[in-house]
Order: sequence, then C-alpha cells, then structure tokens
Amino acid sequence: MNEYENKDELLDKEEEEGSEDSRDSGSDYEQICSMCRRPESKCGKLMNLPGGLNICPDCMQRSFDTFKQSGIDINSLPKIPLGRIDLSNLNLGGMQPGQGVKKKKKEEKKPQPELKFSDVPRPHLIKAMLDEYVVGQEKAKKVLSVAVYNHYKRVFSDGQDGIEIEKSNILLIGPTGSGKTFLVKTLAGLLKVPLAISDATALTEAGYIGDDIESVLSKLLMAADNDVDRAEHGIVFIDEIDKIAKKQNMNSRDVSGESVQQELLKMLEGSKVEVPVGATSKNPMVPTATLDTKNILFICGGAFPDLEEIIRQRLKGANSIGFSSNLQESTEDKDKVLSQVNMEDLRKFGMIPEFIGRLPVLATLETLNREYLVRILKEPKNAILKQYQKLMAMDEVKLEFEDGALELIAEKALEKETGARALRSIIEEYMLDIMYEIPRDDSIGRVVITRDYLEGKGGPRIILRGMEQLPG
Ligand code: ADP
Repeated sequence: MNEYENKDELLDKEEEEGSEDSRDSGSDYEQICSMCRRPESKCGKLMNLPGGLNICPDCMQRSFDTFKQSGIDINSLPKIPLGRIDLSNLNLGGMQPGQGVKKKKKEEKKPQPELKFSDVPRPHLIKAMLDEYVVGQEKAKKVLSVAVYNHYKRVFSDGQDGIEIEKSNILLIGPTGSGKTFLVKTLAGLLKVPLAISDATALTEAGYIGDDIESVLSKLLMAADNDVDRAEHGIVFIDEIDKIAKKQNMNSRDVSGESVQQELLKMLEGSKVEVPVGATSKNPMVPTATLDTKNILFICGGAFPDLEEIIRQRLKGANSIGFSSNLQESTEDKDKVLSQVNMEDLRKFGMIPEFIGRLPVLATLETLNREYLVRILKEPKNAILKQYQKLMAMDEVKLEFEDGALELIAEKALEKETGARALRSIIEEYMLDIMYEIPRDDSIGRVVITRDYLEGKGGPRIILRGMEQLPG
C-alpha cells in the first residue's frame, strides 16, 4: 500500500515534517526557496525536504507540472518515505541542498517608494552630487546629468499630446579606469534606482554558451528585490560594448558580435521580455516575470581602442591641417580627437547603425593624468586616503601624506595604464607595513608618509603623542 496516495497528501506530510525553524518567524533569518531563491516572505510557505532543501509552492507545482508534461504519473512512482531519501548525492541542477537555507531577513525592509518625477533632481543638482564622488570628467558628468533628467521626464510624461519623447540611452566612451562604471554606479545610488552591470563579452546569441541577453534583465530584477515596477525604472550598464563590434572578415558564424548587437536592439528600444526570477538563466523550473524595457535606461560603455585613428582619418579628410598623426602626441590631444566622435566613426569601428541609433547620447571620458589621479586619491567623499585616515584615527593616530608621496603613487598607477583602477592596490602595498607597525606603539600620535619612504630611502616621519601639533 502506498504511503502517500497523492500530491496533496505528500505536501501535507512534508509540512508536518518541516523543521521547526522554518516557522520561527521571530528570528532574524528567513528561509529561501532552494530553486527560485526567493525568501519565504515573497514566495509563500516553504516545504522542508530532507537534505536541507526548501521548496516553495510555485516551484513544487512546476516540478509536478514538469513530471506531468513528460508523461510520468506521480502516483506510479515507488513510494519511499521521504525521511529516508538521501538527496546529498543528487544532481539537482540549480538547486543547492543545505546551501543558503537561511538568508538574513531583509531588515524589515520597507518597500522602496515608487520613483516620482519630483524625486529626480534637476541636472545641475545631479552634476553637483556626482562632483562629490567623481573627479574630472566634467563634460561626461554634464551630458549624463541632462540625459538622465530627460530620461525620467520621458518616463513620467503622459504622451497625451501625441508628442513622444525618444529614449535617451547613453554610450560612454573612455579608456579603462577612467570612471565609466563608477559614474553609472554613483548615479544609480544617488537616484536610488536599481542598477545592473553586465559585461558585453559574456553575452552571446541565445542558445550559445554564455549569458543570454535576458540575464542582463534578471540581474536588474534581482537588484530591485524582484519588484517588477522598480526594475522597470532602473538602469542597466553594459560594459565593454566595443567587444561586440562586427568582426571584420569573419567566415564563421558571429555569435558574440554583430548578432548580439542585433539581439540587444529590441531591448534597448523597449520590448516586453520574459525574465527568469531569482536566476540568470532560463530553466523550466524557474518562475519568470515579464519586464517591459521601455522605461529602463540603458548605458553602454567601452574603451573603443583604435577609434581615435578612425576619427583622425575622417578629420584629415575634411581638414588636412591640424590633426596629424604624431606618436609624440599628448593624451590631451588624443582625448580632444576622441571627443569629436560621431555615429559614422562608430559604424566604421564595427557597431551596426541600428544599434548606435538606439544610443543617441554620446559622452567621452578623458584619460586620467597624474593630477587627476592625485585628486582621486584625496578628494572624493569616499577617497582612499580618507579611508586610511579613518582607520588610523581609530588608533588615535593622525595619518598624512606628503604631496610627493601622492605623486609617486599616481606615477606608478600611470605606468600600469589602467587609469584609477591601479591606485588602490598600489597604496595598499605601501600601507601594509604602516598598518602593521603603527598600532604596536601607543606613543605614536602622527605619521607622515613621505616620498622617500615609498621609494625605500627612509622611514615615514613619526611624531609622538602630545607633539602632533608641531609642524611635521
Ligand atoms: P572604467 O569603467 O572606466 O573602466 P571604473 O569606473 O571601473 O573604470 O574605475 C575604477 C575605479 O577607479 C572606480 O571604482 C573608482 O574608485 C576609481 N575612479 C575611476 N575614475 C574615477 C574618477 N574620475 N573619480 C573618482 N574615482 C574614479
């Protein structure tokens, strides 16, 4: 005689057997579904299966449906008391028994208020807020502030007068480490809208190995805590977009270049996309939600190497004086050439016209020179130096850097040619000994990092407690 006659009986039994802590609603933790990863508060009461698996009603239903579709009669399965099943060796695809069984309850998260147009600061205020974090890149900050403001105007316009404002998706062009991603992250943080960052190199045409285009949107949905309305007002940043340029002289099928541009087109313009909830790939077991991309702001970024040469060729044709190709040319001159980029140059680079057409706002970022890198070390609200100073202040030690020392760090970063990205690792290397040695000695009140110290020609300047006020 079968122990469990039907699905409902089985579910009832499982609820009875479910561990106590799933019902422990008073604790700081709540359980998440092992399949769709949604917390219990979102997906409904979980069923606790042996092996540490917790399944929500939706996923359980889907599993039964899948059985049904594949012609398996659930009642004909051999009945084994579930308590005796060892699930630890089963290949459960996306499910991870025992892992992430508990997730910290979202600190009684208040639902994020819906974005209103009155919440969107005016362009000069957006720019002023960006200025607090992002050094230089004045033009890009201005372009971005206006584009974002206009984007949300468009989102909140009723369109009843028949005038439809076009989407202002943005293309950011600038060298590695010049702050493209940082600008977008800062912007999304200031506007309190969800942000998803993806890398175009990971995207491939649907059906090929790599991330499908929808994965970009499922990341956004996750960033919005699975709130479809919030996600539909969010920002998607796709980095390294230059890597999906049309490849020249390709014989084989181009699954990660032009065809990915083609697939991104619809999403950039606005379409309804089925997006997996709680996972980045589609799977019959994972619930989906429909996301309308009409009001999502897409920002693409890339370094576009050699684009400058294409622009130079065009400028040379139009005006043979002024822009000669000169190896000795300064980065300022190169930036100046890059700032004159137009759609035609991008087309020559390998971007398909329809794709660039959907990114009507163009902004170029400058190469960060030594002066900018020094400013990045010390000026932003969350500057690296301020962070170290805060750490030392907790030991009641004042930390200072000589200008020469900061310049040396900037020079080392320039050598790496990765913009501001290298700053942190360089300074961390130098600061290791300081962070190790200083807390050892309670008599130290102030430390000045000198260029000589960084160059290995001496120690840092140490000032004892009680004498901190004396000039270093
Ligand atoms: P990109 O996307 O252009 O390659 P990132 O935005 O990732 O570069 O920059 C790397 C890091 O360098 C950022 O996280 C940020 O800390 C710092 N950074 C880069 N540019 C700036 C800038 N203009 N102002 C302040 N910090 C910057």
